[in-house]
Amino acid sequence: MKILIIEDEEKIVQFLKQSLEAEYFTLDIAHDGDDGAHYAQINEYDLIILDILLPGKDGVQVLREIRAANIMTPVLVLSVKTETAQKIEMLNLGADDYLTKPFTLGELVARVRAILRRPHGIQGQTFTVGDLMIETKGCTVKRGDRDIYLTRKEFMLLQYLMQNQGAVLSRGMILEHVWDMNTDIFSNTIESHMLSLRKKIGDTGKQRLIQTVPGRGYKISVS
Ligand code: CA
Repeated sequence: MKILIIEDEEKIVQFLKQSLEAEYFTLDIAHDGDDGAHYAQINEYDLIILDILLPGKDGVQVLREIRAANIMTPVLVLSVKTETAQKIEMLNLGADDYLTKPFTLGELVARVRAILRRPHGIQGQTFTVGDLMIETKGCTVKRGDRDIYLTRKEFMLLQYLMQNQGAVLSRGMILEHVWDMNTDIFSNTIESHMLSLRKKIGDTGKQRLIQTVPGRGYKISVS
């Protein structure tokens, strides 16, 4: 799950970052409205968290622009009490919900999960490939009866593969969905995470679930 945060206040950015990364979300951050509107149109996100008062384009302008560009990604508005008029305007423009600052970690996570659950019940899904099973709500992984403990990135990588089982996923697609924009695309990040993931799920024999497709990428399937 990838979230775009458009917020200029560094303290709130850091709070969102810590809270949401702990919940296994991948984040991109824009510190002003111009970057935010741009990122929203060039990348694919599962959710956009949008502040109202921003340098450059404000939240209302950003939302208007992305909805006009036919981007229907759910939007959670961050507002302060006095911004009632803008908040209402944004809900009318198709924002999905709002949070009033200051908010607690519990409120934030509950609101984010509620929005993501709405259209297609993404939270709490179970995926299986052969005897490997993941459950996205509790972030649990099992191979047969054995519990497997993955790091956050390893879990996100496995989830992305399993959501798209049978399909070849290129390095670019994996970077786009599992890593943020600051990742050095020439680093061996994917390879090293793939290696440890394979070890942990015991995918090292001849009959591998995660297959390397030379020159194209990776896929997961029962071979
Ligand atoms: Ca602000």
